[in-house]
Amino acid sequence: MDDSSNQDTISRDFIRNRIAEEIETGKCRKVITRFPPEPNGFLHIGHAKSICLNFGIAAEFGGDCHLRFDDTNPSKESKVYVDSIIEDLKWLGFYDAGKTYYASDYFQQFYEYALRLIRNGKAYVCSLSPEEMREYRGTLTAPGKESPYRTRSVEENLDLFEKMKSGGFPDGAHVLRAKIDMSSPNLNMRDPVLYRIQHTSHHRTGDKWCIYPMYDYAHCLEDAIEGVTHSICTLEFEDHRPLYDWVLDEVGTACHPQQIEFARLNLGYTVMSKRKLLELVEGGDVNGWDDSRMPTISGMRSRGYTPASIRAFCKRIGVSKKESRIDMLMLEEAVRDDLNENAPRVMAVLNPLRVVIENYPEERLPDEFDAPNHPAKPEMGTRKVPFSKVIYIEREDFMEDPPKKFFRLGPGREVRLRYAYFIKCESVEYEDSGEIKELRCTYDPETRGGSAPDGRKVKGTLHWVSEKHAVKAEVRIYDRLFNKENPDGGKEAGDFKDSLNPESLTSLEDCLLEPSVENAAPGKRYQFERQGYFCLDVERSQGRPVFNRTATLRDSWAKAKS
Ligand code: ATP
Ligand code: MG
Repeated sequence: MDDSSNQDTISRDFIRNRIAEEIETGKCRKVITRFPPEPNGFLHIGHAKSICLNFGIAAEFGGDCHLRFDDTNPSKESKVYVDSIIEDLKWLGFYDAGKTYYASDYFQQFYEYALRLIRNGKAYVCSLSPEEMREYRGTLTAPGKESPYRTRSVEENLDLFEKMKSGGFPDGAHVLRAKIDMSSPNLNMRDPVLYRIQHTSHHRTGDKWCIYPMYDYAHCLEDAIEGVTHSICTLEFEDHRPLYDWVLDEVGTACHPQQIEFARLNLGYTVMSKRKLLELVEGGDVNGWDDSRMPTISGMRSRGYTPASIRAFCKRIGVSKKESRIDMLMLEEAVRDDLNENAPRVMAVLNPLRVVIENYPEERLPDEFDAPNHPAKPEMGTRKVPFSKVIYIEREDFMEDPPKKFFRLGPGREVRLRYAYFIKCESVEYEDSGEIKELRCTYDPETRGGSAPDGRKVKGTLHWVSEKHAVKAEVRIYDRLFNKENPDGGKEAGDFKDSLNPESLTSLEDCLLEPSVENAAPGKRYQFERQGYFCLDVERSQGRPVFNRTATLRDSWAKAKS
């Protein structure tokens, strides 16, 4: 039943199978799902899985999916997060303003439902201290103990609850609890807290409320109020399902959604808890939530990932009830597949080595080449690439004493400059330090366009950039944020920050790019030939454009590991 799938085609997972059956039998007329983020952080790739699942199901079955802000805990929430979530959903292609809801719009209803529970003897005001509450709660092996306040009269409860609401008590003085069963084997059912006092301004309701509902009480009611049919959540809520059902049954809502759990997405070499991501942001370990190394949607956007590649990844990993950790390489593969198809090619030299072409005329008229933007897609057009007497090649494309298998440039060797000419290395100039300063080469004018009329062959083809036409740029190379596959795993693991990778960001400050990138818009993605995929950042550094490396050409990381 709950097999996961690796296919790109829509495959029916256990949730879709179940819904299809309910529609067939008429049990469900119109599917309504929801994606319910708490606005206490930016969305990450795990949320993308939930978004693709909930919005995907609604679309496939002709239903609706609500974006609902689960904004019931004002101390950690803010409008900044609400805005970022909307932006990310828009970018992923799932935002609909008409189907956006806020739990805070239901505060009055939650309150009235709580009064109903009190009147029915199903909830009481408890005045135990937090420590006492913990003690009374019992453990997995020992039953809990009933609170001495459990027997308060309905009148007393109504009176105290009203005073809690109108600000008559400080934070923590009392809570409202459900009256269920202190000996239940399920700890969630041992008179869980429904409301706590919190004198905190809410980003939408201001100071109107100083009692706020707990997740387990509010969430099911939010679903019921909105007529949600399937409340899809991650596995850790399985043990909360009896409480979800209890609240709806005791309040007696007209609609009783079905909670269904699936396994959350875990990715290797990163963390996915918002609390930990916030710690990285606040600790300055990364440059904000949208740092290109973060597993956030906004980080992936700035890194150059496409919405289509994230959606494709979510489809490939499928949905199941088995916990697993997905290899980051799968996500990168989805990104690469998309960019390989769609990113125009350009030439960029990341570690430049100067090359003077001695026999190239100083004052030659513009000499430029038409280069295809995509080798397999003529419809993507061509661009002009200018040539001149001084060019740069990649430092690693030259070796003074090359081994046999090195087919690139070396003293006395001839190579092809992509789209341009054959050049031959005549001599090497050195700095006083002994470092190579530049190469002196000659070119063969007969090889214009990249082939020799006499039929002679060269084995290496190098990318290059003309000195006087080059665009200077900074290029940021990213590696894994953590150097452990499971940074927060295991009890002996210590602080997750201990496994931060100190080399997760390398800045190459003096890169040279061909001039066609000059007026690119931020967010524009390219393949730098032979180098990988790169995306123009919004940020500039010392007036220069900044490019982020989105992905390598091949999966070089897996190779390096083995
Ligand atoms: P935290 O990171 O603190 O555990 P959260 O990620 O659960 O919080 P929410 O805002 O409550 O934060 O999540 C919104 C929705 O996204 C929930 O329905 C949740 O189940 C889902 N979700 C969160 N993380 C993942 C994940 N890693 N994989 C799949 N779904 C997820
Ligand atoms: Mg949550």
